[in-house]
Amino acid sequence: MNLPPQLPDLPLFRTIAEAAHELGYPAYVIGGYVRDLALQRESKDVDVVCVGDGIQLAQAVGRKLPNRPRVTVFKNFGTAMLPTPDIEVEFVGARKESYRAESRKPEVEAGTLEEDLARRDFTINALGLSLNPNDFGALIDRYNGVQDLQDKIIRTPLDPDVTFSDDPLRMMRAIRFATQLNFDIDPDTFDAIARNKERIQIVSQERITVELNKIIMAPKPSYGFKLLFASGLLQLIFPKMAALQGVERRGQHAHKDNFYHTLQVLDNVVEAGADLWLRWAAILHDIAKPPTKRFDPKVGWTFHGHEDKGARWVPGIFADLKLPLGEEMRMVQKLVKLHLRPIALVKETVTDSAVRRLLFEAGDDIDRLMTLCRADITSKDHQRVARYLRNFDVVEQKLKEVEEKDHLRNFKPVITGEVIMQTFGLSPSKAVGELKEALLEAILDGKVRNEFDEAYAFLLELGQRKGLAPQPAGAAGTAPSAATQA
Ligand code: ATP
Ligand code: MG
Repeated sequence: MNLPPQLPDLPLFRTIAEAAHELGYPAYVIGGYVRDLALQRESKDVDVVCVGDGIQLAQAVGRKLPNRPRVTVFKNFGTAMLPTPDIEVEFVGARKESYRAESRKPEVEAGTLEEDLARRDFTINALGLSLNPNDFGALIDRYNGVQDLQDKIIRTPLDPDVTFSDDPLRMMRAIRFATQLNFDIDPDTFDAIARNKERIQIVSQERITVELNKIIMAPKPSYGFKLLFASGLLQLIFPKMAALQGVERRGQHAHKDNFYHTLQVLDNVVEAGADLWLRWAAILHDIAKPPTKRFDPKVGWTFHGHEDKGARWVPGIFADLKLPLGEEMRMVQKLVKLHLRPIALVKETVTDSAVRRLLFEAGDDIDRLMTLCRADITSKDHQRVARYLRNFDVVEQKLKEVEEKDHLRNFKPVITGEVIMQTFGLSPSKAVGELKEALLEAILDGKVRNEFDEAYAFLLELGQRKGLAPQPAGAAGTAPSAATQA
């Protein structure tokens, strides 16, 4: 850490100071940029607050910069953005805000620097560095933000009930920053989240999901989910996930707590370098365990079909959370559906045919599926985990061999529906689909190689068994033959 934070000696800051001075506006670098200077994190943007008109200041700065960048003005917000080669600078006039109970949209009025700092979310985000000639670079720290950075604490500058009730999104932000930075949340602040959790309902799902995805992208997302659960927020924003928590016992049979298991799997895929969507697949892989839970006196707890039900749930969950509904969603859905398959291969003797089928179904997502499945091997018994992982290596090796041999990852049968129709003079019909399916099965079973001559010979054989005669060359694809009508 770099405490107290120091303003880097950039010409940009001198220029802003000069322009602010000419306009007679006290100006400060404030918020996330100052925090990130202390934490030695990279920042994407700088926020400048002036006691005056932020848009005017931005325009004055723009005129002074060598390449005269274009200022983008957001009139409704009273802010202006100035792109510079290194970083974007956002200008705003100091403001005070008052909130109404039913909305998180504040009434905004011009205010003093003190008022502006008081409406910030956390003490570590309420630090400023002066851009004024008389004390250029001086630290403004009204709420002991530097101490909280030192102690790694997230705390609201004002009474947390006021801060959170004013803008309930801050509850998500508190947990997001704690997770990203690996900070604790001050107990009074945390208690206030639990007390005010219901207020999250007035926040749009889009904004909640932005914070949720930032938690998920943190180095150890399980921490954030534990905070969300402990505060009661998770139960409101993602009840299906909260429902994974808990253990039920009958006699000596107890199942594992699927919430903590899911978090372990999530952290495991993160360790393996997962992107956002593989992380989502980890979160959702067991999501349908609660409704599929049964007790069987012979074998104990079962969750039969949870992978299929979970996969069916994925579109609805994505829609509710306002996550994108395209390719990413389909990939997550596929991973949820297939997540038991590689581990099932560990238990059986691995046949080429089973491996081929898995490769065919997983397609390009096979590597992600294997990462998820490996991450899914959790147990308190380390020897058991190690044994499973060793067996898993065997499956992975086998996958590699079969893939190299048969290239099933982007597998397309060499015999297309077109070829089938032409061969037997068929028009699109159930018969064509059945032939295609039978060919695919034979190839996946390894009875026939996916190579034209061999597959074509097999097709003729299949046709013969069904009483289909090949069409003479030239007549292909014309009127349906007698055979189809039969
Ligand atoms: P990051 O850019 O990593 O999300 P940040 O702290 O820069 O973190 P921004 O959303 O860019 O967050 O906001 C910049 C600053 O504006 C914050 O540091 C904080 O001082 C203030 N701020 C942002 N959102 C809120 C909010 N909902 N309530 C109060 N203050 C806020
Ligand atoms: Mg920022």
